Amino acid sequence: MNNFGWKREVLKQVVAYPLGQNLYLNITNRCTNNCLFCIRHTTAGIGYNLWLKQEPSPEEVLKAVQDPTIYREVVFCGYGEPLMRLEAVIKIAEQLKKKGGQVRINTNGQANLIYQKNVVPELKNLVDAISISLNAHSAERYLEICRPIYGEKAYQAVLDFTRSCVGQIPRVILSVVEWPGVDVEKCREIAFKLGTEFRLRKFSGMFKQYDQE
Ligand code: SF4
Repeated sequence: MNNFGWKREVLKQVVAYPLGQNLYLNITNRCTNNCLFCIRHTTAGIGYNLWLKQEPSPEEVLKAVQDPTIYREVVFCGYGEPLMRLEAVIKIAEQLKKKGGQVRINTNGQANLIYQKNVVPELKNLVDAISISLNAHSAERYLEICRPIYGEKAYQAVLDFTRSCVGQIPRVILSVVEWPGVDVEKCREIAFKLGTEFRLRKFSGMFKQYDQE
């Protein structure tokens, strides 16, 4: 056994993993942020080894899901930013919706910056909910905590992406990890002004209630 308690000989990559009533999809480990609290930096993780040897194809992911209707939601989540693989997300979500599943994306909200266009119309009708990590009440604080490769413009891009989602995707949630120096009430106010739901996530070495609402 290694330090994480996983047997090396069975290091088959985890593409989909159940937690609570949901199924979470792990399609990439890449991300445009490097958040101080990223679960990738914790030793405990969430109880699964989510490091991918190679990114799974849409077919592999759909095979891992089997029947999406047995879960409350199928959530693109991972150890990384799912919208780094926009085309794969679209292909997978199309099939999940055809089968009657509920689809959510957990994202850092930088997709429009990554692709230099508004990608929300491509997700419309394929996604029931989108949870966007706000994580700070100001651009300065975001830079310190999330350490985006895009630097100062990232925070505004997250806000703009959120605006693009409102009215296009049925549920839009802004989420914040409780972290020193983050003004949660200001974040809640930002969510209110943008017309989204708000969710505060507790962190203490690992997420106690990882993405379960
Ligand atoms: S956005 Fe998510 S995956 Fe990316 S570094 Fe931050 S916590 Fe980790």
